[in-house]
Amino acid sequence: VEDRLRPKHLETLADLKSAGYRLYGYCYCGHSQSLDLDVLIKRFGSDYAFIGEKRTLRALRCSTCGRLAGQITVKPR
Ligand SMILES: [Zn+2]
Repeated sequence: VEDRLRPKHLETLADLKSAGYRLYGYCYCGHSQSLDLDVLIKRFGSDYAFIGEKRTLRALRCSTCGRLAGQITVKPR
């Protein structure tokens, strides 16, 4: 996650969810998809700090081209 895109008070998946933000993944092929926070919380835990965390990126696969690890951004819902 690029730091300039991140609201300063958001650090964990639970923070994102309670603030009504969403994570979007952008692939190099141009495809973008919103990421299901509930699925991520179930997988990594609600205290998971997504900032600079490469595990999250590695766990994501583009549904269009199948490549791993695009770019993640945070957006208000
Ligand atoms: Zn792709």
